[in-house]
Amino acid sequence: METSMSTRTDERYPAYHRRSLQDREGFWAEQARLIDWETPFGRVCEHDHPPFANWFVGGKTNLCHNAVDRHVAGRGAQNALVWVSTEVGQERIISFAELQAEVQRMAAILQAQGVVQGDRVLIYMPMIPEAVFAMLACTRIGAIHSVVFGGFASVSLASRIDDAQPRVIVSADGGSRSGKAIPYKPLLDEAIRLAASKPEKVLLVDRGLAPMERVPGRDIDYAEARAAHLDAQVPCTWVESTHPSYTLYTSGTTGKPKGVQRDTGGYAVALASSMRDIFQGRPGETLFCTSDIGWVVGHSYIVYGPLISGMATILYEGLPTRPDASIWWRLVERFKVTTMFSSPTAVRVLKKFDVDAMRRHDTSSLRALFLAGEPLDEPTATWISGALGCPIIDNYWQTETGWPILALSNGVEKQRSKFGSPGLPAAGYDVKLIDEATGQDITAPHQKGVVAIEAPLPPGCLQTVWRDDERFVKTYWKSVPNRLVYSTFDWGVRDEDGYFFILGRTDDVINVAGHRLGTREIEESVSSHPAIAEVAVVGVADQLKGQVAIAFAVLKDPALAATPEGALKLEGEVMKRVDEQLGAVARPARVRFLAALPKTRSGKLLRRAIQAVCEGRDPGDLTTMDDPAALQALREAVQG
Ligand code: AMP
Repeated sequence: METSMSTRTDERYPAYHRRSLQDREGFWAEQARLIDWETPFGRVCEHDHPPFANWFVGGKTNLCHNAVDRHVAGRGAQNALVWVSTEVGQERIISFAELQAEVQRMAAILQAQGVVQGDRVLIYMPMIPEAVFAMLACTRIGAIHSVVFGGFASVSLASRIDDAQPRVIVSADGGSRSGKAIPYKPLLDEAIRLAASKPEKVLLVDRGLAPMERVPGRDIDYAEARAAHLDAQVPCTWVESTHPSYTLYTSGTTGKPKGVQRDTGGYAVALASSMRDIFQGRPGETLFCTSDIGWVVGHSYIVYGPLISGMATILYEGLPTRPDASIWWRLVERFKVTTMFSSPTAVRVLKKFDVDAMRRHDTSSLRALFLAGEPLDEPTATWISGALGCPIIDNYWQTETGWPILALSNGVEKQRSKFGSPGLPAAGYDVKLIDEATGQDITAPHQKGVVAIEAPLPPGCLQTVWRDDERFVKTYWKSVPNRLVYSTFDWGVRDEDGYFFILGRTDDVINVAGHRLGTREIEESVSSHPAIAEVAVVGVADQLKGQVAIAFAVLKDPALAATPEGALKLEGEVMKRVDEQLGAVARPARVRFLAALPKTRSGKLLRRAIQAVCEGRDPGDLTTMDDPAALQALREAVQG
C-alpha cells in the first residue's frame, strides 16, 4: 500500500509505520513505556470481539498521575498551566506542584459531593483554569468527565445531560466574548429543567461576570468549597487501562449526538507517542493550542497531551484579534512557545490584518504550527508560512480518534509537506481508501474513495459510543458489507507518494470554522419555530469559515414571508431560536423561505442538489426529482 508507493529515500517513517501495524504488540508495548503504570499490562491489544479493541489489558494507570503528579518531583516548579485571558485582563501561571494542589482540592470537593469512580461529571465551563482542574480531578479519582462546549445552549446541553447522567455538573457564572459577558448559569438552569436526568449538585465558579441565582441545596460555591479543602490530599485512583476517562459528544447524521467514549491507558500512550513523533514537544517546553476545552483538540492538546509530556500548556481565553491581531504572537514570544496548534479558520481571520505586526514579534522559538479540523487551503497555508517562517503542518483527525490519523511524523523522520495534504498515516492507523460502489480497496493513485481504517483502531481511539455498543458498530463499522473497516465518512484520494488529500464528508455533517455540526440537529431546532412546516439545512462553502449552514424553510402560511420585511423578521426569529437552543455556533448564516423543497419522487430531500445550487455548481442527476420548479425557485431564492 502506501509504503510501496513511497519515493522517499530515507526509509525510517515507512519502517516505523509498517512496524506499528505488523508488530502491533511490540510497537505499542514500546510506546507504553512513555507513561507510568502502577500495574503492568498483560495483553497489549485484545481484539477478540471485533470491532471492539481493548488496549493494555490488565494494566493499571491514571491519566492525572501521568499529566501532573509524575512531573512534580523533577519539574514541580516549572510552568504547567499558563492561563491568559484578554477578555477579563487576567492571567495566572501555575506550576506542576501548584497544579497538583489545585487538582487535589477540586477532587476533594467532588468526593465530598459523593462522586466516586465511574460517576459522570459534566463540565460546562469557559476557558478558565478551574475547567482544567475539574477535568484532571475527575480522571484523578476515576470519575468520567463529559465536557460540553461553553458555546452550546440549553437544548444541546440538556440532551448531553440526559445521555451522560452526571452526578455533578461543574460550571461558572459566565464566559466573555469580545469583552461582553456571556451568562452561562441561566442556560444551565434551563438545560437542567429540560433534562429528565437531574444532577445532584452543581458546582459553580463565580467570576463576578454575571449575576447568578443559586438553587438552595443543589448549587455549591467553588471558592467556599475550595477554602474548606485547601490542604486536600487525594491520591490518584489506579484504574484499569480500559476504564473510561471521558465521553465527548459529537454530531452525526441523526439529531442525537453521540457520546464518544475514550479509555485511559490507550489514550495516555497514544498522546505521549503523538507528542513525540508528530508534535515534537519536549519536556520543559511550551505548547499553545488555540482550540477550546469543549472540543477534542482541547482535550488532547490543551490538557492531556502537553502535560503528559511534561510541557507547559497555554490556556487562552479570548479572540485572536483582541486587543489586536498580534496577541497570539506576543504570547509565543513571551512564553517561548515551541509547538503551536490552531485551525485554518483562525488563520484566515488573522490574514485580514497587518502581517508586519506579526513580524514585529520574535516567533523564532516556534518549531511548527499545526493546523487541523477542516481542509487547509493553499493561500492560507502559504500566507501563514511566509508570515511565520516555520513549517505549517496540516493534520487530519476526528473527535472519535482523539489524535491524528494523518499527519507528518516528523519526530520519526523529517517528511516533505505537500500543500493541500494532511500527509501520511500516523502510527497504528491502517488507512484505506474504499470504493463506495464495490467495497474494494482503491490502490491506484488519484482515485476518490471513502477514507477508512482497518480494525483494530490504534490506542486512544473511541472504545464505543457511550452506553450504545450497537450504535458504535452500526454507525462506524457497517458501511462496507462483509468487511470490518471503520468509516471516517470523509472522501479522500491518495497520490503516488502515499499522501492523502481529504475531499469532504460523505454524510450530512457540516464543518463550520473547524467545528462539526449535524444538519439534522439544526433542522430540528429550526422546525421548532411554530411558523415552519419543513426545513432543509445544508453546508455551503464560505471563504472564512470553510462552510456555513444555510436553512431553506417552507412556511405553514407563506404569506408571512411574502414581503422582504416579513421574511427578514422571520429569519431573525429563526436565528434567535437556534441561538437559544443550540448556541450561536449552530446558527444558520441565512434562512430562505420557499414554497417547496427539492425532493425525489419518493420524498427524499435532495441535499446535494441544494448544496450544489448554493455553491453555483451543477446539481447533477435530477431524473428522480419530483418537481423541477422547486429547484428553479431555490435558485432564485439563492440569487435573491
Ligand atoms: P471533529 O470530529 O469535529 O474534529 O471533525 C472531524 C472532521 O473534520 C473530519 O471527519 C473531517 O471532515 C474534518 N477535518 C478534520 N481535520 C481535517 C483536515 N486536516 N483536513 C480536512 N478535513 C479535516
